[in-house]
Amino acid sequence: MAQVSLRNVSKVYAGGARAVDSVTLGIENKEFLVLVGPSGCGKSTTLRMIAGLEEVTEGQIYIADRLVNDIPAKDRDIAMVFQNYALYPHMTVFENMAFGLMLRKYPKSEIMRRVNEAADILGIKHYLERKPRELSGGERQRVAVGRAIVRKPTVFLFDEPLSNLDAKLRVQMRTEIHKLHIRLQTTMIYVTHDQTEAMTMGDRIAVMKDGVVQQIADPITIYDKP
Ligand code: ADP
Ligand code: ADP
Repeated sequence: MAQVSLRNVSKVYAGGARAVDSVTLGIENKEFLVLVGPSGCGKSTTLRMIAGLEEVTEGQIYIADRLVNDIPAKDRDIAMVFQNYALYPHMTVFENMAFGLMLRKYPKSEIMRRVNEAADILGIKHYLERKPRELSGGERQRVAVGRAIVRKPTVFLFDEPLSNLDAKLRVQMRTEIHKLHIRLQTTMIYVTHDQTEAMTMGDRIAVMKDGVVQQIADPITIYDKP
């Protein structure tokens, strides 16, 4: 089975809106899959169900062959990077990156090692002692990525991580995330409404509309038959 597998997954929010409508999708081990589509089509809901941050209404989600419908987010081997960074404002960069590992009772030496390694990979060593408000948007997003990396998950989820950045930085961060994928050799699922981002980043692209995955193919095929 694929690394992440969705079988006829639907989400109906209280109030009746069917945000995701019977999506079946397999994400292969080490693949970079982009989920693209207009605002409101159900991308974020799909990602949040994979992360365990939103309950599945119908269908099954498997991660590494394990049915995870009833597994809480913290027990899934997944880390997610959010559009708004979701950093803790009162903590330093180091503390933000270390926090999840501290909650999980990792030894201090292991925490130091992992945070320093992630900071090295992302080029953020020189601001480990700063607070989020002292950082630019791009720097904050690197910290948010760093916080995901230190957990060493087998699956990374990105929810529009570059939407708050200016055009130049978006292009630069695209390349950085692409490099990260090559370096870490992990499965990544990346949500965006930006078609250029999808075409330049995805090994495969899933095109979503009105809660349904309409097409899933490599960028060349999508380009030929949009
Ligand atoms: P996208 O990520 O593609 O912009 P979303 O998954 O955020 O789409 O939203 C899909 C649909 O579900 C939209 O119609 C949105 O308004 C609705 N929706 C999203 N979150 C909630 C919620 N917490 N409660 C009710 N409806 C929601
Ligand atoms: P951490 O962000 O390090 O996981 P918490 O354990 O306090 O810190 O997170 C609270 C809840 O939200 C947990 O269920 C956790 O799994 C989930 N969560 C928080 N951040 C992420 C993330 N980056 N990726 C996936 N799940 C997250």
